[in-house]
Amino acid sequence: MSGRVIVVGSVNIDLVARVPHLPHPGETVTGGSYERHQGGKGGNQAVAAARLRRPTLFIGAAGDDDFEVEARRALISERVDVSMLASLPNQATGMALILVDAAGENEIAVVPGANWAIEAGYVRESLARLGRLAGDTLLVCNELPVHVVREALVCGHAAGATTILNPAPATGLDRSIFGLADIVTPNRNELATLLAIEERRTGRRTDEGADVASRARSLLDAGPEGPGARRAVIVTLGSDGAVVLERPTPRPEPVLPVGVEPCDVEPGEADGDGQAPGASPRPSAPGARAVEEPPAGVTLLGEYRVWSVPAFKVATVDSTGAGDAFCGALAAALAEGRPLAEAVPRAAAGGALATTHVGAREGMPTASELEGFMAAR
Ligand code: ADP
Repeated sequence: MSGRVIVVGSVNIDLVARVPHLPHPGETVTGGSYERHQGGKGGNQAVAAARLRRPTLFIGAAGDDDFEVEARRALISERVDVSMLASLPNQATGMALILVDAAGENEIAVVPGANWAIEAGYVRESLARLGRLAGDTLLVCNELPVHVVREALVCGHAAGATTILNPAPATGLDRSIFGLADIVTPNRNELATLLAIEERRTGRRTDEGADVASRARSLLDAGPEGPGARRAVIVTLGSDGAVVLERPTPRPEPVLPVGVEPCDVEPGEADGDGQAPGASPRPSAPGARAVEEPPAGVTLLGEYRVWSVPAFKVATVDSTGAGDAFCGALAAALAEGRPLAEAVPRAAAGGALATTHVGAREGMPTASELEGFMAAR
């Protein structure tokens, strides 16, 4: 089984000024240098998957300015299908303004622009045009309005895709959304933010001193506000690797939170069977997966399997974009039909390799780099 990666996410232009020192309010700092990079978690994750030779499609929005043309061309040059990247009138393309001082400290302002103007209906219709998504993996980050994130997860699942929620940034999310995703991938800080939000909402305390798995289990557990992720939670821990919590068998159906409509648009036939060129035949049935063999070193936490994936030792120069590389590689590996026990180490290799280059999108490894790296370990 082999399918596509569909990324529903953000696209930004990153303007980076390297300045002698960070300005105080009202101060003008002169000097330094300036760079322009392609960014946005969605765009980066799509490039990560496309460089691993998965047919990859991006659903999102840019503005109607010069940066839209630049962002679109950059994705096309990476072989990402941008036919569903909208260009919204009277909107600016998303932009991150980043100041970095000589010591590497930074100040960042993100102006979401078109990323926050995209409508849920656009995502719903785009997914419907793609036809059945069985065998495909849908990856959604949280740099879009939360109701759009919900829509993507609901419609992606209804069409048969495996759905991944990358809860980055973690703000604005509550537990009701986790039950809509097969897999949720917070990093360490995002997990802390999600648990703090939950504590504020429910008054239920989580033990801050507990190990990562014990803390993360609440994203799998059912709670008063909704069920947990359908299949797994993967917490990424930078140079400490990743921890996976997995249900022994996936929960069968997402439970829609109050106020969220089921996705009732019948997937249509866009181009033939809606399958991107190069993809192997996909099964017609929605993607219920067989129960997978547990990987070595698995322990049990209640009913859940817990296993760690150590970080690969690499010469890190810049860890920006490691999480995007991880998510893109995870989505690509699942779309190749690999089990989670194989997909997470490949994602960790993607994250590790990304840290060996300066920049986020620039550092995403190619398929041959990833294969060579894995073969040498
Ligand atoms: P984010 O960029 O979202 O903060 P992380 O820093 O947790 O995400 O990185 C994602 C994954 O990339 C980690 O789980 C790990 O597998 C890999 N990774 C990140 N930093 C390093 C590093 N310094 N060395 C090796 N692997 C790393």
